Amino acid sequence: MGYLGVELWKRDGKSWCPWAIPQNTISCSLADVMSEQLAKELQLEEEAAIFPEVAVAEGPFITGENIDTSSDLMLAQMLQMEYDREYDAQLRREEKKFNGDSKVSISFENYRKVHPYEDSDSSEDEVDWQDTRDDPYRPAKPVPTPKKGFIGKGKDITTKHDEVVCGRKNTARMENFAPEFQVGDGIGMDLKLSNHVFNALKQHAYSEERRSARLHEKKEHSTAEKAVDPKTRLLMYKMVNSGMLETITGCISTGKESVVFHAYGGSMEDEKEDSKVIPTECAIKVFKTTLNEFKNRDKYIKDDFRFKDRFSKLNPRKIIRMWAEKEMHNLARMQRAGIPCPTVVLLKKHILVMSFIGHDQVPAPKLKEVKLNSEEMKEAYYQTLHLMRQLYHECTLVHADLSEYNMLWHAGKVWLIDVSQSVEPTHPHGLEFLFRDCRNVSQVDV
Ligand code: ADP
Ligand code: MG
Repeated sequence: MGYLGVELWKRDGKSWCPWAIPQNTISCSLADVMSEQLAKELQLEEEAAIFPEVAVAEGPFITGENIDTSSDLMLAQMLQMEYDREYDAQLRREEKKFNGDSKVSISFENYRKVHPYEDSDSSEDEVDWQDTRDDPYRPAKPVPTPKKGFIGKGKDITTKHDEVVCGRKNTARMENFAPEFQVGDGIGMDLKLSNHVFNALKQHAYSEERRSARLHEKKEHSTAEKAVDPKTRLLMYKMVNSGMLETITGCISTGKESVVFHAYGGSMEDEKEDSKVIPTECAIKVFKTTLNEFKNRDKYIKDDFRFKDRFSKLNPRKIIRMWAEKEMHNLARMQRAGIPCPTVVLLKKHILVMSFIGHDQVPAPKLKEVKLNSEEMKEAYYQTLHLMRQLYHECTLVHADLSEYNMLWHAGKVWLIDVSQSVEPTHPHGLEFLFRDCRNVSQVDV
């Protein structure tokens, strides 16, 4: 593969860039083959053949007429969730009224119906993705944790776990709650809130804040789109309902293997009660669960030694979740190498939430679409070569679907996306994929 590594961008001892060549060469049919329009049509045909009675709606998805009312179960579940939230809000009001200013208060917590995200969607066939969040290829090294939270010296060390210190700190932290959240005059007093009480209050404050924001913003219902199946819609709805996403604004792309949505990020509490920073704008990539296309792609994952053991034991639905998982691990490796690519926010079954490349709901253009001048085009080309080398040498990965459709141009940089099929070079077809990537990049397509 040596000649691929070097001579692609060196000709006659000079650097050479096929992307900046004047656009008068003969048209190549590759564009037709890769046409997303064509892919969509094929997909529609196939779906129509499998489910002749269900008309498959194609964008625009957010219009009222297109809302799918066929899934009573899902609607019922959504209504139930909405009802539960209302119920909890009422419960909180009752609790507050009941306790009044009394110093001894009674908690209604156990009667609440909605609990933080991640608790309620167990299903019989769930892949325990939490166990696979670490890249199976590289076991995570234990990171030494610096000692934190000690106050004082010598014998009189007070730790952050000290009840009084901690209680007072918790009371002070109530100031950070939203202004409309009534904390009373507790902040002025020498109140000591236990962690348990404080966390319950914090949770309450956040959910109230989100709820009041949502009352003015009905957009979260826009997820009721036909591009995804009811179960997926429910999962997406839960992400909004939990506050992890503020609102899902619409669909960016419907491909053969995935549907990508744009969303505004909210906030998320993890197990340690720290809030995780969610990017302001997110992309939600939903791997299609109804597809036969994936059968053709088995070779990318079946022979990937990282997933080999698990592959044979899984049903097709679980295999599709492995695609999402694979994309997550690959993106994480790329992030570590400093390659411009989306940051993973969350993986839930076959849904991958990542940072959005673009601005104000407008995704960054693909290299295929963007109009670049000759200088920018050269720049993009050399950046791409550099990214390919980084991907190979630093991430030990071959993209395996590298083309102007899977590179975005954003903030003067080339960004790599769509890495669910990327493999290690030792994959039985690894070098073949690498060759194809190099050919796609070096070939002049006009
Ligand atoms: P597919 O496998 O369907 O090609 P991609 O990951 O390439 O899936 O995503 C399809 C399209 O969605 C991309 O061409 C791009 O326009 C858009 N897209 C995907 N991820 C992002 C992202 N993180 N930010 C902005 N746009 C994205
Ligand atoms: Mg793509």
